[in-house]
Amino acid sequence: MTEIDWHREADVIVVGGGLAGYSAACEAAQSGAEVLLLEKQPEIGGSTVLSGGFIAFAGTDLQKAAGIDDSNERLVRDLENAGGHQNDERLLRVYAERQLAAYEWLKAAGVTFKGVELSSAHSVPRAHTTDPRLLMKRVAELAARSGRVQTLLDAPAERLVRAGRGKPVAGVLARLGGKTVAIRARRGVVLAAGGFSRNPEMLKIFAPGQARAVSYGGAGNTGDGIRMAWALGAGLRDMGYIKGTFGFHPNARTEPGRDWTKLAVYRGAIAINKFGRRYVDESLSYKLLGDAVLRQPDTIAYQIFDQGIMDRATDGTPPFDFRSAQRRGLLVEADSLEALADKLELDAATLVATVKRYNGFVAGGKDEDFGRDGLSTHYGKLVKIERPPFYAYPSTSGLIATYCGLTVDPGMRVVDVFDEPIERLYAAGELIGGFHGVAYMTGSSLGKCIIFGRIAGRNAAMAD
Ligand SMILES: Cc1cc2nc3c(=O)[nH]c(=O)nc-3n(C[C@H](O)[C@H](O)[C@H](O)COP(=O)(O)OP(=O)(O)OC[C@H]3O[C@@H](n4cnc5c(N)ncnc54)[C@H](O)[C@@H]3O)c2cc1C
Repeated sequence: MTEIDWHREADVIVVGGGLAGYSAACEAAQSGAEVLLLEKQPEIGGSTVLSGGFIAFAGTDLQKAAGIDDSNERLVRDLENAGGHQNDERLLRVYAERQLAAYEWLKAAGVTFKGVELSSAHSVPRAHTTDPRLLMKRVAELAARSGRVQTLLDAPAERLVRAGRGKPVAGVLARLGGKTVAIRARRGVVLAAGGFSRNPEMLKIFAPGQARAVSYGGAGNTGDGIRMAWALGAGLRDMGYIKGTFGFHPNARTEPGRDWTKLAVYRGAIAINKFGRRYVDESLSYKLLGDAVLRQPDTIAYQIFDQGIMDRATDGTPPFDFRSAQRRGLLVEADSLEALADKLELDAATLVATVKRYNGFVAGGKDEDFGRDGLSTHYGKLVKIERPPFYAYPSTSGLIATYCGLTVDPGMRVVDVFDEPIERLYAAGELIGGFHGVAYMTGSSLGKCIIFGRIAGRNAAMAD
């Protein structure tokens, strides 16, 4: 191979300025490396800053203070159940072993947690709530304080560079100031470029069944990291399990903004289709609920709830902040179920009968139609929908993340299709496969960005 004309160099190059990228950068810097972080967009944050800010930790002080009994074993069991036992067991163990340290690391960086919520696939409340923009800011500040991390904005990485066929990864080609230049990584490259919810071509290949879901996520999430490593022979995993998230407002298709997901079902709402009928056990993972709504006419459902459930909203926690939806005019509201049906252009008698039948199940302790036995994942007591005013949140499935991609080993080295590590190439965040399996548990993506990002950064800094 001809000599490469390197434009500049660093010990570690991190591709992507979201939570995984900055977690990796912090840890690489902490290990003494000089880090160059490349971010394609004019600002950092990717999908991370659009997220609900739920992070899955188990056994924390916050849970203990709330009397919640959680453990690593329970966490792993929930991840396996959510993932249909298709997860890479080794990655689950690493998550469990490192998660409490990651929680403390965030707190030491100045990240604050408001509380703990029950959400999708949790057998106990485990979603530690934080403001995702502050989370991102604090981790980026930590990187800046190290004095060893330099971030370049508007700087898309385009290709990985190897020193020769079968040789270790030596750097990247990146677009800087309108020119493609070669940047050398003296130790390693960490791919943290997020998923591909914004790449219609890749979605067509890997998730044709999700074509009717609303595509959402960071504008830069076009699968670049996956494609760059794929071109070097990286293995792929979980590609067949891409799913949207239920509770996503259909207006997100045409309107800008964030905070579109509401999960009133996990506070006791029911989901009905445009025929006014329930069609699913609403306590299932919102990924499975996402698939279920795509099978309904016009792929639309309404989360129906009453003032009692409205009173259980959590202001400032996006998926449970129903009043924020009300203020934006996204909630349909009426003093009776008949009037609500009129506003939704549904058959009033059917809606009234559906709610009456459901309330009967709540009173009798058994959902004879769909077997719902809790608010989420068998946890929490069902409540009747009976106290006016009544509310409806129009909901479809939002493809907010892809949660699949590169095969990695527990040290976050990217491994190829023959299970051989691609030397000096690491990956973390939404672009890895193997961790979630069939479906995702709330909070486990931000969690894995931090936990696996830190591992990737440290190992890249130590690569020889
Ligand atoms: C609406 C919504 C709600 C969510 N809620 C939650 C939640 O509550 N809890 C949870 O755990 N998960 C949640 N998720 C998922 C979670 O936010 C993401 O999976 C996670 O933030 C991904 O982090 P990341 O660092 O891997 O990628 P990102 O944060 O997306 O960062 C990747 C970065 O890489 C950049 N990039 C891409 N290509 C290149 C390139 N070629 N060169 C340089 N840079 C590049 C992108 O521009 C982006 O800034 C949610 C997602 C969305 C959209």
